[in-house]
Amino acid sequence: MYENLNIIFYPDPRLKRVSKKVTTFDDNLGALAKRMFELMREAKGVGLAAPQVGQNIRLYIVNHSGNPEDDRVYVNPELFDADGEESAEEGCLSLPGLHADIVRAKTVKIRAQDVTGKIFEQNESGYLPRIWQHELDHLNGTMLTDRMGPTAKVEHRKLLKDLEDQYAAAHPAKPIGKSSRKLPKNPK
Ligand code: ZN
Repeated sequence: MYENLNIIFYPDPRLKRVSKKVTTFDDNLGALAKRMFELMREAKGVGLAAPQVGQNIRLYIVNHSGNPEDDRVYVNPELFDADGEESAEEGCLSLPGLHADIVRAKTVKIRAQDVTGKIFEQNESGYLPRIWQHELDHLNGTMLTDRMGPTAKVEHRKLLKDLEDQYAAAHPAKPIGKSSRKLPKNPK
């Protein structure tokens, strides 16, 4: 049922929504996660959040190494005990071509549920928690464009404008319909 899902791009409004908590842990959730891993691999990413495939639920997947055994699904994730700060370059599958230095907490604890609803915790430092924080932002409707500094914004102005133009071209404004019929037939 999720074969037709694809990664959506800035400035799709679905990327700006706050996603809803997952309360049903059924086969559909597993099927969604499976499709997301396919899409993430195709795009050579390390993380993908459900809103990035147009599903506004609190679920993201991560694989920081490329090894299938490191596939992780995080449902209803919560981060806590953040410690330290580190700046590093990040990209985003919904902002192709954009790279920006982002400050994140260095060490973070995560508590989440797996696809079956089982609660688990992880405590990590470095790259993995950076991905957790980036993906959690997606669940709250926050993108790299909201996190990057004014210099990076200026630097990427053309890229963002191109993405905005592509979105507008793919989503033309709806025809006026009814109201157009109300116009007089022979306006003078
Ligand atoms: Zn992203």
